[in-house]
Amino acid sequence: MICKKIVELLPRFIENDFSKEEYAEIARHLEECERCKKEYEAMKKLIDRLETMPLLNVPKSFKESVMKSLKDLKDKNDG
Ligand SMILES: [Zn+2]
Repeated sequence: MICKKIVELLPRFIENDFSKEEYAEIARHLEECERCKKEYEAMKKLIDRLETMPLLNVPKSFKESVMKSLKDLKDKNDG
């Protein structure tokens, strides 16, 4: 699997929205790839923070739109 693909799958990976096999494949890539691992950790931190917001049950669509704007931003920065 290539890094670009992995990064796209990370939000779903964090939500644990994969089969065992797919999950293992991504997890293995993260073990081997420092860049994707950093991406994963940053994303996870953000999502964890959203989920622990008090008095606010963040809907999944909101999280998805956050992830999307992060990705758009990153794409721009990568130029
Ligand atoms: Zn990678």
